[in-house]
Amino acid sequence: MDMLIGGKHITSDDLEEVKNPYNGELIDTIPIAHLQTADLAIQKANEAKEKLQEMSAFKVSNKLFNVVSKLQEKREEFAELLTKEVGKPINESLVELDRSIETLKLAAEEAKRIYGESVPLDAGLNGKGFFAFTQRLPLGVVAAITPFNYPLNLTIHKIAPAIACKNTVIVKPPTEAPLTVMKFCELLNEEFPDGVVNTVTGYGSEVGDYLVTSPDVNKISFTGSVTTGMMISQKAGMKKVTLELGGNDPLILLKDGDIDKAVKGVINGAFLNAGQVCMGVKRIIVEEEIAEEFSEKLVFETEKLVMGNPLDSKTTLGTLISEKAAIQVEEAVNNAVRDGAKILTGGKRDGAFYEATVIDDVTTSMDLVVRETFGPVAPIIHVNDIDEAIDVANATEYGLQAGVFTSDYASAMRCASEIEAGTVFINKQSTFRTDNMPFGGFKNSGVGKEGIKYAVGEMTKTKLIGLNLR
Ligand code: NAP
Repeated sequence: MDMLIGGKHITSDDLEEVKNPYNGELIDTIPIAHLQTADLAIQKANEAKEKLQEMSAFKVSNKLFNVVSKLQEKREEFAELLTKEVGKPINESLVELDRSIETLKLAAEEAKRIYGESVPLDAGLNGKGFFAFTQRLPLGVVAAITPFNYPLNLTIHKIAPAIACKNTVIVKPPTEAPLTVMKFCELLNEEFPDGVVNTVTGYGSEVGDYLVTSPDVNKISFTGSVTTGMMISQKAGMKKVTLELGGNDPLILLKDGDIDKAVKGVINGAFLNAGQVCMGVKRIIVEEEIAEEFSEKLVFETEKLVMGNPLDSKTTLGTLISEKAAIQVEEAVNNAVRDGAKILTGGKRDGAFYEATVIDDVTTSMDLVVRETFGPVAPIIHVNDIDEAIDVANATEYGLQAGVFTSDYASAMRCASEIEAGTVFINKQSTFRTDNMPFGGFKNSGVGKEGIKYAVGEMTKTKLIGLNLR
């Protein structure tokens, strides 16, 4: 599939194959762009700003709603492509499509709500006699750099709010799973003037880096790993940056918590998308008294998962993004076992598949839980009381989301206030998000928030206009 730059299809002498991680089949090739092409995209995005900004909010909103209808019509076709390039079960791809449609709708609605406010300057010394108000203005060109795990919805979380507040966009999709995003940008381009949305494929370390450092890009909206995020924050200079980075989310089960509900939370939280979820359950912190009953039930439910062809609707556990990624997970689990952890179920790899794995007697110093393990693994850490549970939950560089299972209000509120994370859910696992909520982590999990209204806030600048009436 070609890149889309200024409404034209552009390729390159260098191509990269996009393969299905399930069977190794070639799905398509993408151009590997170099700096000149990235430069062309920056030029076209800048040229298109005026045309977009001349459009009324009414028109922008309607056009986004038209894209909603187009994506709805092609829901199944997009889901199949997504499953092929990522290896996620088809039912999960259909959910990603539904979330993408919802995200787009929210942006189409938000396009009509780019409000400023009146400001009472007379509340300040010498401010009497003014009438003042603010306007929220587009930043200009937004570069959206996105990861492989939820490529479509996470990219729409950037493109849709950016256009809703009249920024043009350059998308740099993940090299391992670029196709669904590129296909979606074609739909957008049918509605908006050429250059409003552009795609640049190529290696992040080359074209991604070029977008980050370019003075003609006004905002970087990045989702991906902490390592890349840190590099971006050091190089972006004065431009605005939003960083949605990794997570190491805890699920705390206190002794008065609903064990069955927590087990369900882990099945969804640790194994969804083969565990490749930023807000996935990556550490299970359980009070000793109920740990045995919990782990028995968890093993029983885990063994019901069906690993197989991701296009088969019975499959509930697909592949990881690549064999290389599965080997990394295998190594992390094997190292934990070497240091004393015990596999209760799973633990085997077959190509890019890794079995849903429950691993007990994990300690806080094991790499498996110190680093973000991006695979279908449920590591159980035993604690003696709520104090220790909170300490363990916070003993990480990450702080994306957290889930606490308890029937006691006081414990719930204590965890909610003391856990250092962007979101704390009570009686729900961390792996939950609606597309309108403010989403984004504390500590090394990121900077800024997404969720359409909040993303628009991060993609606009505020101007104050003051009229001296005296
Ligand atoms: P990644 O390796 O950081 O890649 C993300 C994107 O950044 C890709 O498009 C990549 O391009 C590009 N990139 C790589 N190096 C770059 C550089 N020097 N400058 C600019 N761009 C560069 O992340 P990933 O492995 O795809 O994704 C998994 C990570 O994302 C996990 O840590 C996960 O927790 C996190 N994540 C966070 C959220 C959230 O909302 N907080 C959501 C989903 C995932 P190439 O593909 O060409 O390398």
